[in-house]
Amino acid sequence: MDMYTCDSMPSSRSEGSARSKLLSLAGMSKSYSPTVCALNGLDLSIEPGEFITVVGPSGCGKSTLFNIVAGLEEPDAGSEIRFLNKPVNKASELLGQVSFMPQRDLLLPWRTVIDNAILAIELEGKRRADARRIALDMLPEFGLAGFENQYPNQLSGGMRQRVALMRTFLFGRDLMLLDEPFGALDALTRTMMQRWLLDVWQKHRRTIMFITHDVEEALFLGDRVLVMTARPGRIKLELPVTLDRPREPDIVTSPEFIRLKRELLIAIEEESRKSFAPTPSAGH
Ligand code: ADP
Repeated sequence: MDMYTCDSMPSSRSEGSARSKLLSLAGMSKSYSPTVCALNGLDLSIEPGEFITVVGPSGCGKSTLFNIVAGLEEPDAGSEIRFLNKPVNKASELLGQVSFMPQRDLLLPWRTVIDNAILAIELEGKRRADARRIALDMLPEFGLAGFENQYPNQLSGGMRQRVALMRTFLFGRDLMLLDEPFGALDALTRTMMQRWLLDVWQKHRRTIMFITHDVEEALFLGDRVLVMTARPGRIKLELPVTLDRPREPDIVTSPEFIRLKRELLIAIEEESRKSFAPTPSAGH
């Protein structure tokens, strides 16, 4: 099999394992053309309330995976999706059933903080006045109290991301997909945002899938870290994060954290080398 085509990687997931999961994917493949296979035979499942982090080399199909789960792209025939224990025939059925925050915050520059935050629920049909009332109550929790009438260009990077996250939380779906939400932030802001996100997640008890390039971020946040293979993407390693919650910032210096980090780095390094391999067959 050529590394770049989606020739039938068998699913390793057994029948019936999808029960009592929020989301299960089995044998998920996605090819963009006969020569570009982004995902090939990917299996994963997520339990309600889990915080899953996803890492992998650039171009391994992380965004493709999110786009499918968000209902924005269709996988290849034969891919199986179950959501809330029901089979999903077309990924587009998932549109609007999950909250999705893409890499760029996508705030509308002509809308204020509060009107950006309510965008998704307003589009869903909620009256603007009602939506604003709900959002105003949430502002302090998102560190935005007093900023409701500011415009995005008046905010710091961290605040913009909190507005985008507030929009995603307000949308109120069981599953939230966050695609590198802190990737563009400086290290200090990023650490603050990670701690804040854990607090908000613990309070709201949503299920989160979170893409990141940062191994420490993946471990600090996640219940499980999924490492993807180089393209075509599958799950190479599912690493349970055996660290207690709530997690204090200094957990990153603990022996267990360092042990997990080493394991992750080895797996990622192996895959990153494949991404740079000169021949397609080097993927196997
Ligand atoms: P990641 O998010 O892990 O960086 P992507 O999911 O964006 O990876 O992309 C996976 C592979 O699929 C890449 O090789 C990329 O070039 C290709 N790809 C993604 N989207 C498209 C598209 N719309 N058309 C063609 N190829 C695509």
